[in-house]
Amino acid sequence: MNTDVLVAGAGPAGLVLACDLARRGVAFRIVDALPAPPDHRSGSRGKGIQPRTLEIYDDLGIIDRVHGLGGPYSPAQAWDGPKPLGAAKFHRIERRDPTPDVPYPSMWMLLQPRALDVLRARLAEFGGKVEFGTKLATFTQDADGVSCMLAHPDGRQESLRVGYLAGCDGARGVVRAGSGVEFASETIDPHPMITADVVIEGGLDREHWHMWDNAKGGALWLGPLVHTNAFQLYAKFENEEPDLSFEALRRLVRDRTEKPELNVTEVLYASHFGSRSGLAKHFRIGRVFLVGDAAHVHPPAGGQGMNTAVQDAYNLGWKLGQVLRHGAPDALLDTYQEERLPVAAHLLEFVVQMHKDWLGKAKDKEEPRKGEHMQLGLNYRGGPLSCDERGAVGEGVTRAGDRAPDAQLTDARGAPVRLFDAFRGGHFTLLALGGAAPPVLDGKAGRGGVRSYRVVPAGSPGMGDATLIDAHGQAHRIYGDGVIVVRPDGYLGYAGPAGAAGVHDWLVRSFG
Ligand SMILES: Cc1cc2nc3c(=O)[nH]c(=O)nc-3n(C[C@H](O)[C@H](O)[C@H](O)COP(=O)(O)OP(=O)(O)OC[C@H]3O[C@@H](n4cnc5c(N)ncnc54)[C@H](O)[C@@H]3O)c2cc1C
Repeated sequence: MNTDVLVAGAGPAGLVLACDLARRGVAFRIVDALPAPPDHRSGSRGKGIQPRTLEIYDDLGIIDRVHGLGGPYSPAQAWDGPKPLGAAKFHRIERRDPTPDVPYPSMWMLLQPRALDVLRARLAEFGGKVEFGTKLATFTQDADGVSCMLAHPDGRQESLRVGYLAGCDGARGVVRAGSGVEFASETIDPHPMITADVVIEGGLDREHWHMWDNAKGGALWLGPLVHTNAFQLYAKFENEEPDLSFEALRRLVRDRTEKPELNVTEVLYASHFGSRSGLAKHFRIGRVFLVGDAAHVHPPAGGQGMNTAVQDAYNLGWKLGQVLRHGAPDALLDTYQEERLPVAAHLLEFVVQMHKDWLGKAKDKEEPRKGEHMQLGLNYRGGPLSCDERGAVGEGVTRAGDRAPDAQLTDARGAPVRLFDAFRGGHFTLLALGGAAPPVLDGKAGRGGVRSYRVVPAGSPGMGDATLIDAHGQAHRIYGDGVIVVRPDGYLGYAGPAGAAGVHDWLVRSFG
């Protein structure tokens, strides 16, 4: 075996997976067919970061950089030609205030090439590096590993034997095609669409996402791209083949806005844009995994593609780490597909419906984004790794399989500590709530794989270093009483009564 994992593709999915593998000490290589990292000429693409993805970026230690380089979404402004109509109903992106359990409540804009820069920088800090100009050409797998052929820019072919192949190579990559998996796809909108990043002079304000839904020839949207002087353009066409030339885009903006003063002065990027959806029948094919767009393709409405890709990678990373570094059974890797495929299918259904509404048939429908798109409510309840032994719990108390919310506590010396501080870093976290001491763990889990804390009300006796004080009862309201284990990807794996033996049985599945 040359290395344990080959990550094919360094988009959001590949980079998040690589960061997670690197910090776990898993041996891997990450390659990308592109000759160099994507820049502003590659398009702003998946720029809408959903709250759940922001939590993952917090856990990876890059949230400050993501905040610094990005910005909030602007409210939408509807137009009828040159006449402003007020707030557009569709695609209104609400800004919410942070709460103790949801510190990042609103979608955040960061242009995809910049997000990839941040992830590559983090990967470098973990000791990893993307090999650009290196394409996965072919692969075959057997019971013991995957034999891959890499094509280098100088024409050299390199054969590589790995334990696992992670296909993070996007919608048109080779891994899905080469794995022979069934892929059900559908055209959601037969009308051609384009997207472009353009600089426009003439006074269009940068405080709104401007929408001409009823423009002659088709809808046109112009959204200001944060920390640039450019707008992202989306345009829909009846049937004609869209012209992506500079002059055509300049005409398009003037004609559809009916504002002759608007002048496109630069086109940074322009592309046709297909409204297709698709889902692979399996996300695990032996030693090959499909991650992100390689596993599912989303139509543009809803801003879910990149976010789902990041979550896939985060679900897979710790499982590969446990199997390769801690002797967990191979069956743990089956749970990647068992957990992520239903989530991806559900999200696709929701996004496809949203896109169909946007096709003009339901313009006056009430705002469809009711929070589902934020991905905070997605859960693995009833899934193969979710074990809840507590019976009935109070209203609003999280159950095994749910996302593990944040809460504001203090340590024994009174310094503020968020639960996310305790979770951060990719380990398992055990919380003993309601007064009991955390159970003593033995075996591999007890040798540092799990960090344990006692969470107690203010004034409780016997507070040690691993005690968190829940002065306002936030953690208690969210998690109830008993013992819970938060998985490395921030979901409740186990929940049981104080001192339950079940926690050991649950941990054995991840620690062998
Ligand atoms: C205009 C536009 C707007 C979008 N807006 C949003 C949004 O707001 N929110 C959102 O969540 N999503 C959005 N998306 C979708 C988002 O961009 C994708 O879902 C996301 O990029 C998927 O990430 P990925 O890592 O799975 O794949 P990709 O980003 O496609 O990355 C795949 C990588 O694999 C490399 N590769 C391909 N083949 C090979 C090979 N054989 N060997 C080695 N490397 C290979 C490619 O060069 C590429 O770097 C948008 C997409 C577009 C086009």
